[in-house]
Amino acid sequence: MTYISVKTRQLVAQRADFRCEYCLIHEKNTFFGCEIDHIVSKKHGGTNDLENLAYACLFCNRHKGTDVGSIHPTTGELIRFFNPRKDLWEKHFQLKDVTIEPLTDIGEITVRLFALNNQERLLERDALISAGVYPAPKPFKQ
Ligand SMILES: [Zn+2]
Repeated sequence: MTYISVKTRQLVAQRADFRCEYCLIHEKNTFFGCEIDHIVSKKHGGTNDLENLAYACLFCNRHKGTDVGSIHPTTGELIRFFNPRKDLWEKHFQLKDVTIEPLTDIGEITVRLFALNNQERLLERDALISAGVYPAPKPFKQ
């Protein structure tokens, strides 16, 4: 754990419109809220610079851990995770009913490692869609 100031936390949250930048859930619709994620973890040389920070729900952040990517299951290639500071969500994922479908290798690795379509998350997303609060209305800013 590293110290991130209240001001920096607020900037990261506001930049993300208070939504998880990976699964798009709004923090007010989470039980545990959102956290500051190091896109490249400190373990791998990541810094506390705003360009290395993302807003992430507890589930996304716990599944990501200190990983920065994974091995593609068919090609064996090392693929990095989706980076909210460099990538557009819509280029790597699409929402189909309650499922977040990957459009790219980066999307596929991120969906799998972040467990974006686990049963509990699908049930939660289904309820949020039915309530009209998912996904949040504004697209992400870069
Ligand atoms: Zn999330």
